[in-house]
Amino acid sequence: CLGISGQRPPECTMRLEAQDVSKCFRTRRGATQALEGASFQVASGEFVCILGPSGCGKSTMLSLFAGLEQPNSGRVLGDGKVLTGPGSDRVVIFQEAALFPWLNVVDNVAFGLQLTGMGRKQRRQRALEVLRLVHLDRFETAYIHELSGGMKQRTELARALAMEPKVLLMDEPFAALDAQTRDILHTELQHIWLRTHKTILFVTHNVREALVLGDRVLLMTSRPGSIKREYDFNIPRPRAMEDHALVDAARVILADLRVEVTKEREERYAQLAD
Ligand code: ADP
Repeated sequence: CLGISGQRPPECTMRLEAQDVSKCFRTRRGATQALEGASFQVASGEFVCILGPSGCGKSTMLSLFAGLEQPNSGRVLGDGKVLTGPGSDRVVIFQEAALFPWLNVVDNVAFGLQLTGMGRKQRRQRALEVLRLVHLDRFETAYIHELSGGMKQRTELARALAMEPKVLLMDEPFAALDAQTRDILHTELQHIWLRTHKTILFVTHNVREALVLGDRVLLMTSRPGSIKREYDFNIPRPRAMEDHALVDAARVILADLRVEVTKEREERYAQLAD
Protein backbone atom coordinates (compact mmCIF):
# COMPACT_ATOMS: atom_id res chain seq x y z
CA CYS A 1 0.00 0.00 0.00
CA LEU A 2 2.99 2.33 0.26
CA GLY A 3 3.02 2.12 -3.53
CA ILE A 4 6.77 1.48 -3.59
CA SER A 5 6.19 -0.90 -6.47
CA GLY A 6 4.25 1.76 -8.38
CA GLN A 7 1.17 -0.51 -8.36
CA ARG A 8 -2.28 0.67 -7.30
CA PRO A 9 -3.91 -2.19 -5.43
CA PRO A 10 -7.61 -1.35 -4.95
CA GLU A 11 -7.42 -2.12 -1.21
CA CYS A 12 -5.03 0.83 -0.74
CA THR A 13 -7.44 3.58 -1.64
CA MET A 14 -11.07 4.57 -1.07
CA ARG A 15 -13.94 6.30 -2.88
CA LEU A 16 -15.57 9.04 -0.83
CA GLU A 17 -19.00 10.56 -1.11
CA ALA A 18 -20.96 13.23 0.73
CA GLN A 19 -24.71 12.98 0.11
CA ASP A 20 -26.77 16.07 0.95
CA VAL A 21 -24.89 16.58 4.22
CA SER A 22 -26.04 19.06 6.85
CA LYS A 23 -24.33 19.71 10.17
CA CYS A 24 -25.46 22.02 12.95
CA PHE A 25 -23.42 22.67 16.11
CA ARG A 26 -25.38 23.53 19.25
CA THR A 27 -23.58 25.29 22.05
CA ARG A 28 -24.63 27.39 25.03
CA ARG A 29 -24.22 30.45 22.78
CA GLY A 30 -26.70 29.07 20.23
CA ALA A 31 -26.76 26.99 17.08
CA THR A 32 -24.40 27.27 14.11
CA GLN A 33 -25.43 25.72 10.84
CA ALA A 34 -21.98 24.79 9.52
CA LEU A 35 -23.04 22.74 6.47
CA GLU A 36 -26.29 22.51 4.53
CA GLY A 37 -26.96 20.21 1.60
CA ALA A 38 -23.33 19.54 0.73
CA SER A 39 -22.85 16.81 -1.88
CA PHE A 40 -19.77 15.66 -3.81
CA GLN A 41 -17.80 12.58 -4.79
CA VAL A 42 -14.10 11.78 -4.71
CA ALA A 43 -12.92 8.86 -6.85
CA SER A 44 -10.49 6.26 -5.51
CA GLY A 45 -6.97 7.66 -5.65
CA GLU A 46 -8.14 11.17 -6.53
CA PHE A 47 -6.57 14.30 -5.01
CA VAL A 48 -9.35 16.80 -4.29
CA CYS A 49 -8.96 20.20 -2.64
CA ILE A 50 -11.77 21.90 -0.73
CA LEU A 51 -11.56 25.66 -0.91
CA GLY A 52 -13.77 28.24 0.72
CA PRO A 53 -14.02 31.31 2.95
CA SER A 54 -13.06 31.05 6.59
CA GLY A 55 -15.80 29.45 8.72
CA CYS A 56 -17.70 27.90 5.77
CA GLY A 57 -17.45 24.36 7.16
CA LYS A 58 -14.32 22.97 5.45
CA SER A 59 -12.84 21.44 8.62
CA THR A 60 -16.28 20.18 9.61
CA MET A 61 -16.45 18.31 6.33
CA LEU A 62 -13.10 16.63 7.06
CA SER A 63 -14.25 15.73 10.60
CA LEU A 64 -17.29 14.00 9.11
CA PHE A 65 -15.12 11.89 6.79
CA ALA A 66 -12.75 11.19 9.70
CA GLY A 67 -15.77 9.93 11.66
CA LEU A 68 -15.09 12.45 14.45
CA GLU A 69 -18.48 14.09 13.90
CA GLN A 70 -21.81 12.80 12.56
CA PRO A 71 -24.05 14.75 10.15
CA ASN A 72 -27.52 15.86 11.32
CA SER A 73 -28.87 14.78 7.97
CA GLY A 74 -27.39 13.27 4.84
CA ARG A 75 -24.58 10.72 4.74
CA VAL A 76 -20.84 10.45 4.28
CA LEU A 77 -19.68 7.25 2.64
CA GLY A 78 -16.40 5.41 2.05
CA ASP A 79 -16.52 2.85 -0.76
CA GLY A 80 -20.32 3.05 -0.56
CA LYS A 81 -20.50 2.30 3.20
CA VAL A 82 -21.72 4.90 5.71
CA LEU A 83 -18.82 6.17 7.83
CA THR A 84 -20.05 6.08 11.40
CA GLY A 85 -16.77 6.49 13.32
CA PRO A 86 -12.99 6.84 13.06
CA GLY A 87 -10.96 4.11 11.39
CA SER A 88 -7.31 3.43 10.58
CA ASP A 89 -8.22 3.58 6.88
CA ARG A 90 -8.60 7.39 7.21
CA VAL A 91 -5.95 9.61 8.81
CA VAL A 92 -6.21 13.34 9.54
CA ILE A 93 -3.22 15.70 9.31
CA PHE A 94 -3.67 19.12 10.91
CA GLN A 95 -1.88 22.45 10.58
CA GLU A 96 0.12 21.87 13.77
CA ALA A 97 2.00 18.60 13.98
CA ALA A 98 1.02 16.68 17.13
CA LEU A 99 4.27 14.78 17.70
CA PHE A 100 5.62 13.36 20.97
CA PRO A 101 8.57 15.48 22.17
CA TRP A 102 9.99 12.62 24.29
CA LEU A 103 10.33 10.32 21.26
CA ASN A 104 12.76 10.66 18.36
CA VAL A 105 11.59 10.86 14.75
CA VAL A 106 11.59 7.15 13.96
CA ASP A 107 9.83 6.26 17.23
CA ASN A 108 7.19 8.94 16.60
CA VAL A 109 6.52 7.41 13.19
CA ALA A 110 6.49 3.84 14.55
CA PHE A 111 4.33 4.70 17.59
CA GLY A 112 0.88 4.16 16.10
CA LEU A 113 1.93 0.79 14.70
CA GLN A 114 2.12 -0.68 18.22
CA LEU A 115 -1.68 -0.80 18.22
CA THR A 116 -1.63 -2.97 15.10
CA GLY A 117 0.28 -5.69 16.97
CA MET A 118 3.24 -5.43 14.60
CA GLY A 119 6.61 -6.58 16.04
CA ARG A 120 9.27 -4.03 17.08
CA LYS A 121 11.69 -4.81 14.25
CA GLN A 122 8.95 -4.65 11.63
CA ARG A 123 7.62 -1.35 13.07
CA ARG A 124 11.05 0.21 12.78
CA GLN A 125 11.48 -1.12 9.25
CA ARG A 126 8.13 0.35 8.17
CA ALA A 127 8.94 3.68 9.86
CA LEU A 128 12.28 3.92 8.03
CA GLU A 129 10.60 3.08 4.75
CA VAL A 130 8.12 5.97 5.04
CA LEU A 131 10.82 8.31 6.37
CA ARG A 132 12.71 7.63 3.14
CA LEU A 133 9.56 8.53 1.21
CA VAL A 134 9.43 11.97 2.89
CA HIS A 135 13.25 12.39 2.68
CA LEU A 136 13.73 12.39 6.42
CA ASP A 137 15.58 9.09 6.94
CA ARG A 138 18.82 10.91 7.87
CA PHE A 139 16.99 12.45 10.83
CA GLU A 140 15.60 9.25 12.30
CA THR A 141 17.33 9.81 15.66
CA ALA A 142 16.56 13.55 15.90
CA TYR A 143 14.14 14.80 18.57
CA ILE A 144 11.16 16.95 17.66
CA HIS A 145 12.61 20.19 19.08
CA GLU A 146 15.55 19.76 16.68
CA LEU A 147 13.28 19.85 13.61
CA SER A 148 12.12 22.80 11.49
CA GLY A 149 8.38 23.34 10.91
CA GLY A 150 8.61 21.65 7.50
CA MET A 151 10.43 18.65 8.96
CA LYS A 152 7.77 18.32 11.66
CA GLN A 153 5.04 18.21 9.02
CA ARG A 154 7.05 15.63 7.04
CA THR A 155 7.30 13.51 10.19
CA GLU A 156 3.55 13.87 10.65
CA LEU A 157 3.01 12.81 7.04
CA ALA A 158 5.34 9.82 7.54
CA ARG A 159 3.45 8.87 10.69
CA ALA A 160 0.19 8.95 8.76
CA LEU A 161 1.59 6.96 5.82
CA ALA A 162 3.07 4.33 8.16
CA MET A 163 -0.48 3.36 9.14
CA GLU A 164 -1.15 2.56 5.46
CA PRO A 165 -4.44 4.48 5.37
CA LYS A 166 -6.57 4.54 2.25
CA VAL A 167 -7.39 8.22 2.71
CA LEU A 168 -5.40 11.24 3.85
CA LEU A 169 -7.60 14.02 5.24
CA MET A 170 -5.40 17.13 5.30
CA ASP A 171 -6.58 20.27 7.11
CA GLU A 172 -4.45 23.24 5.99
CA PRO A 173 -1.30 21.23 6.82
CA PHE A 174 1.14 23.75 5.32
CA ALA A 175 -0.58 27.00 6.38
CA ALA A 176 1.90 27.73 9.18
CA LEU A 177 5.01 27.17 7.02
CA ASP A 178 7.09 29.78 5.18
CA ALA A 179 6.54 30.06 1.41
CA GLN A 180 9.72 28.20 0.37
CA THR A 181 9.15 25.26 2.70
CA ARG A 182 5.53 25.09 1.59
CA ASP A 183 6.62 24.98 -2.10
CA ILE A 184 8.99 22.08 -1.36
CA LEU A 185 6.28 20.20 0.49
CA HIS A 186 3.84 20.79 -2.37
CA THR A 187 6.29 19.09 -4.74
CA GLU A 188 6.91 16.25 -2.31
CA LEU A 189 3.24 15.68 -1.60
CA GLN A 190 2.56 15.48 -5.36
CA HIS A 191 5.32 12.85 -5.67
CA ILE A 192 4.04 10.90 -2.68
CA TRP A 193 0.52 10.94 -4.04
CA LEU A 194 1.67 9.82 -7.52
CA ARG A 195 3.59 6.99 -5.87
CA THR A 196 1.12 5.80 -3.22
CA HIS A 197 -2.22 6.54 -4.96
CA LYS A 198 -3.95 7.47 -1.70
CA THR A 199 -7.25 9.30 -1.92
CA ILE A 200 -6.48 12.80 -0.61
CA LEU A 201 -9.01 15.37 0.59
CA PHE A 202 -7.08 18.57 1.25
CA VAL A 203 -8.62 21.67 2.87
CA THR A 204 -7.14 25.07 2.14
CA HIS A 205 -8.17 28.70 1.85
CA ASN A 206 -5.30 29.33 -0.60
CA VAL A 207 -6.49 29.20 -4.22
CA ARG A 208 -3.09 28.58 -5.79
CA GLU A 209 -2.26 25.86 -3.28
CA ALA A 210 -5.52 24.12 -4.24
CA LEU A 211 -4.61 24.37 -7.93
CA VAL A 212 -1.03 23.11 -7.45
CA LEU A 213 -2.22 20.01 -5.65
CA GLY A 214 -5.74 19.05 -6.67
CA ASP A 215 -7.06 16.96 -9.54
CA ARG A 216 -10.21 18.92 -8.83
CA VAL A 217 -11.02 21.91 -6.68
CA LEU A 218 -14.36 22.10 -4.87
CA LEU A 219 -15.34 25.66 -4.06
CA MET A 220 -17.66 26.03 -1.07
CA THR A 221 -20.25 28.70 -0.45
CA SER A 222 -20.09 30.86 2.66
CA ARG A 223 -21.74 29.36 5.76
CA PRO A 224 -23.84 27.26 5.81
CA GLY A 225 -21.38 25.57 3.49
CA SER A 226 -22.28 23.57 0.43
CA ILE A 227 -20.46 22.96 -2.83
CA LYS A 228 -20.83 26.02 -5.03
CA ARG A 229 -18.77 24.83 -8.00
CA GLU A 230 -16.25 22.21 -9.08
CA TYR A 231 -13.15 23.23 -11.05
CA ASP A 232 -10.99 20.92 -13.12
CA PHE A 233 -8.39 22.83 -15.13
CA ASN A 234 -6.31 19.74 -15.99
CA ILE A 235 -3.00 21.60 -15.60
CA PRO A 236 -0.05 19.25 -16.32
CA ARG A 237 2.02 18.02 -13.35
CA PRO A 238 4.38 18.69 -11.70
CA ARG A 239 2.91 22.11 -10.99
CA ALA A 240 4.29 25.20 -9.29
CA MET A 241 2.38 28.14 -7.83
CA GLU A 242 3.87 30.58 -10.37
CA ASP A 243 2.96 28.56 -13.52
CA HIS A 244 1.11 30.78 -16.02
CA ALA A 245 -1.79 28.37 -16.56
CA LEU A 246 -2.19 28.09 -12.81
CA VAL A 247 -2.14 31.84 -12.18
CA ASP A 248 -4.81 32.30 -14.89
CA ALA A 249 -6.98 29.57 -13.36
CA ALA A 250 -6.51 31.10 -9.91
CA ARG A 251 -7.89 34.40 -11.19
CA VAL A 252 -11.13 32.68 -12.27
CA ILE A 253 -11.60 30.93 -8.92
CA LEU A 254 -10.63 34.02 -6.91
CA ALA A 255 -13.42 36.04 -8.54
CA ASP A 256 -15.88 33.28 -7.56
CA LEU A 257 -14.45 33.03 -4.03
CA ARG A 258 -14.56 36.80 -3.54
CA VAL A 259 -18.36 36.73 -3.93
CA GLU A 260 -18.58 34.20 -1.06
CA VAL A 261 -16.14 36.09 1.19
CA THR A 262 -18.15 39.28 0.66
CA LYS A 263 -21.39 37.45 1.47
CA GLU A 264 -19.84 36.04 4.64
CA ARG A 265 -18.69 39.50 5.76
CA GLU A 266 -22.07 41.05 5.06
CA GLU A 267 -23.77 38.35 7.13
CA ARG A 268 -21.34 38.93 10.00
CA TYR A 269 -22.02 42.69 9.90
CA ALA A 270 -25.77 42.03 9.78
CA GLN A 271 -25.46 39.79 12.87
CA LEU A 272 -23.50 42.51 14.67
CA ALA A 273 -26.15 45.08 13.74
CA ASP A 274 -28.96 42.85 15.09
P1 ADP B 1 -13.66 26.33 8.19
O1 ADP B 1 -12.81 25.12 8.32
O2 ADP B 1 -14.23 26.50 6.80
O3 ADP B 1 -12.96 27.60 8.62
P2 ADP B 1 -15.20 25.12 10.30
O4 ADP B 1 -15.68 23.84 9.73
O5 ADP B 1 -14.05 25.06 11.24
O6 ADP B 1 -14.93 26.16 9.13
O7 ADP B 1 -16.41 25.79 11.10
C1 ADP B 1 -17.67 26.06 10.50
C2 ADP B 1 -18.55 26.71 11.56
O8 ADP B 1 -18.91 25.74 12.54
C3 ADP B 1 -17.87 27.85 12.30
O9 ADP B 1 -18.82 28.85 12.56
C4 ADP B 1 -17.40 27.23 13.59
O10 ADP B 1 -17.35 28.17 14.62
C5 ADP B 1 -18.48 26.17 13.84
N1 ADP B 1 -17.96 25.00 14.53
C6 ADP B 1 -17.04 24.13 14.07
N2 ADP B 1 -16.81 23.14 14.95
C7 ADP B 1 -17.60 23.42 16.03
C8 ADP B 1 -17.84 22.76 17.29
N3 ADP B 1 -17.19 21.64 17.61
N4 ADP B 1 -18.71 23.34 18.14
C9 ADP B 1 -19.37 24.47 17.81
N5 ADP B 1 -19.21 25.11 16.64
C10 ADP B 1 -18.34 24.62 15.75
